Amino acid sequence: MKLSIIGTGYVGLVTGTCFAEVGHEVTCVDNDEAKVKMLQAGGIPIYEPGLEELVRKHTATGRLRFTSSTADGVENSEVVFIAVPTPPLPDGSVDLSFIERVARDIAGAMTSYKIVVDKSTVPVKTGEKVAETIKRYSKTKVEFDVVSNPEFLREGFAVEDLMRPDRVVIGVSSQRPVAAMREIYEPFDAPIVVTDINSAELIKHASNSFLALKISYINALSVVCEMTGANVMEVAQGMGMDKRIGRRFLDPSLGFGGSCFPKDLSAFVKIAEQTGYDFGLLKEVQRINAAQMDRFMKKISDTLWVLKEKRIGVLGLAFKQNTDDVRMSPALEVCQRLLKEGATLRVHDPKAMEKAKALLPPSERVEYVADMNAVAEGCDALVIATEWDEFKRLDLERARREMTHPILFDGRNLYDVAEMEALGFIYKSIGR
Ligand code: NAD
Repeated sequence: MKLSIIGTGYVGLVTGTCFAEVGHEVTCVDNDEAKVKMLQAGGIPIYEPGLEELVRKHTATGRLRFTSSTADGVENSEVVFIAVPTPPLPDGSVDLSFIERVARDIAGAMTSYKIVVDKSTVPVKTGEKVAETIKRYSKTKVEFDVVSNPEFLREGFAVEDLMRPDRVVIGVSSQRPVAAMREIYEPFDAPIVVTDINSAELIKHASNSFLALKISYINALSVVCEMTGANVMEVAQGMGMDKRIGRRFLDPSLGFGGSCFPKDLSAFVKIAEQTGYDFGLLKEVQRINAAQMDRFMKKISDTLWVLKEKRIGVLGLAFKQNTDDVRMSPALEVCQRLLKEGATLRVHDPKAMEKAKALLPPSERVEYVADMNAVAEGCDALVIATEWDEFKRLDLERARREMTHPILFDGRNLYDVAEMEALGFIYKSIGR
């Protein structure tokens, strides 16, 4: 089918590329001219495993093309997907101005029946507003349907998740767009759940909030483990083997971050508040998450005492492994807090160093180190802030030799406590 995607970021670019991979003809639109030029010239603005090869393949097959004109995208497609940002406003609610802008642009460009599909994460009832807006701004008064099709991809595994989704959610207000939506997703061989639009929109916020809740649950347990001498990793394993619970999202850490969980959680709290329900459970999830970061920072300051003039190596800048995304990254928050206390940093990330430089500029006190094994050189302590697999294979003998003091704060529990102590490290991790 002929499809267009408005917004060519982490969601839009990967979705468009995977649609091309299964045979659709896709136009990716973005109003960031520099991004479009880069993509047209064969560059890729984000890191996602497997993405570059697929983008190259389908710009060559001609099934994937890039433009900065929404009208071009709308004209050349039967179905128009919206994948623009929905960032948080200062009060935690969602800034829907990007969605509204695109709805007006689509309305102005429609000359025949279109299915307009919202893929961005939006508050319940946004679909109704999108439909009203398109109706109001459409010049030709052609027919259209609005569909909600929330995206559940994980950054770092986006291609894999899009090619093999657990489920596809399609929220509709009439049956007319259902056949086309099924046809688009048929090659992905995933269960399709058809709901009303409000339910589809809620499924997304409810899912992300539940996953954040699971993380905060294990992080809260890690505190109880530290206080009782239990080992949170063993507790997580024992709990996770229960099929009703599952082991995933039971990894204790310095807290969740990224461009989705924090904002979607605040949005859901706000959405509930606007309906008159105080979602205290989710407020507690937020509180636990903030406290987990505070506890980690306290471990560092309790051990090193004064941080001023201490040289600290930080491994990891991305908000999680396999991505270059540093939006709301807990790793960057660690860096910023250490800097505030007067420490000097040597930092490294396998993929996120370029993106991190905008938020953590290189300076006399922040040195970007290309080799992960050179980070520890001359450091008073080392911090693991992101769970990259490569950090499980650090040259620890070298680190111990080159550090002024072999102290390691592991915010991701990548190493075994006994092994680290046998190697001569003072090793502080989470919940053990
Ligand atoms: P992003 O910032 O990476 O990409 C959004 C793109 O939209 C940018 O390239 C921007 O230039 C473009 N854009 C903004 N306004 C535009 C306009 N008027 N016309 C054309 N292009 C425009 O954002 P993202 O991470 O891809 O997220 C997009 C949406 O998907 C958000 O609602 C997010 O919550 C949701 N989502 C994100 C993820 C994720 O892991 N990143 C997962 C599921 C859902």
